[in-house]
Amino acid sequence: MYDLIIIGMGVSGISGAIYAKRAGLKVLLLDHSAPGGTLNIIPEIENYPGIDNISGPDLAMNLFNTVNKLGIEYKLEEVTDVILDNIKTVKTKDNAYQSKYILIASGRKPKMLGLKDEDKYIGNGISTCALCDGAFFKGKEVAVIGGGSSAVSEALYLSKIVKKVYLIHRREEFRAENTLIDKLKQIKNIELILNNEVTSLITDNNQLIGLKLKDRDINISGMFLYIGFIPNTDFLHNTALKLENGYIIVDSNGETNIEGVYAAGDVTKKEIYQIINAASEGALAAINISKN
Ligand code: NAP
Repeated sequence: MYDLIIIGMGVSGISGAIYAKRAGLKVLLLDHSAPGGTLNIIPEIENYPGIDNISGPDLAMNLFNTVNKLGIEYKLEEVTDVILDNIKTVKTKDNAYQSKYILIASGRKPKMLGLKDEDKYIGNGISTCALCDGAFFKGKEVAVIGGGSSAVSEALYLSKIVKKVYLIHRREEFRAENTLIDKLKQIKNIELILNNEVTSLITDNNQLIGLKLKDRDINISGMFLYIGFIPNTDFLHNTALKLENGYIIVDSNGETNIEGVYAAGDVTKKEIYQIINAASEGALAAINISKN
């Protein structure tokens, strides 16, 4: 029996675990894959206080080192179901764990465009991770889709590796931060295609060779999608947790509508999805849990 089970080993989950462990709680961290969550697909972080510049995977590794240094128990198992009675039960494929409190910090995953054959070409021409796959397109032409901070920062990253980046956005105005847009304007091998959308993939012999847009075709070898996210809440199907568009609603203490169940980070409904507030939300939830 644990005091606290934390689902997700991204920034918010690990921050929560650090505070819970230091408060003397018996904590278990669970994640289905590598610790770090979304950090693992961020090439560069330049807006975290005290750190000039760090890659997402390096920050993830630092967080994981802290988990080990503090002796926080963790298991790499995918959570498939939770039962949120007075005692909470968290089920994975092979095991079930119980605790008094739960902190859901399961993050969110990239959204896809929904094009015909899109799934077939993921990992073979289509990617949601420039950091992971950018090197495969060295010297080639690629497209980045989206107009938020992710699309712009990944287009900037890719422009250093590939021959040319088409940044395709469905509107005229970007959602991205101004500092990123200012940088974008200085890069010669990024072509902006605005007010346009991808309507289908152009393939040849099982290779992605281009994109059909609303009013033109472009030749590319790779397409990087940064069109937003879907929260990872599938494992909550048997609960009465209050969600909005799949995101968990929490109060100012980080608690959900079910007593003893907290949530933090990108899986929650909020205005700002930044590393800095993911960290603070995880810590806040753990502090409130430890006060109970
Ligand atoms: P986002 O801000 O939600 O932007 C998603 C973009 O994709 C929007 O421009 C949207 O267009 C476009 N889009 C959505 N569905 C589409 C579709 N079906 N077809 C074509 N385009 C579509 O997502 P994000 O850029 O991943 O950012 C998420 C959060 O992380 C934000 O809070 C952001 O500030 C933060 N972030 C920060 C940094 C940083 O350096 N500080 C870096 C990355 C992310 P519309 O604009 O027309 O809706």
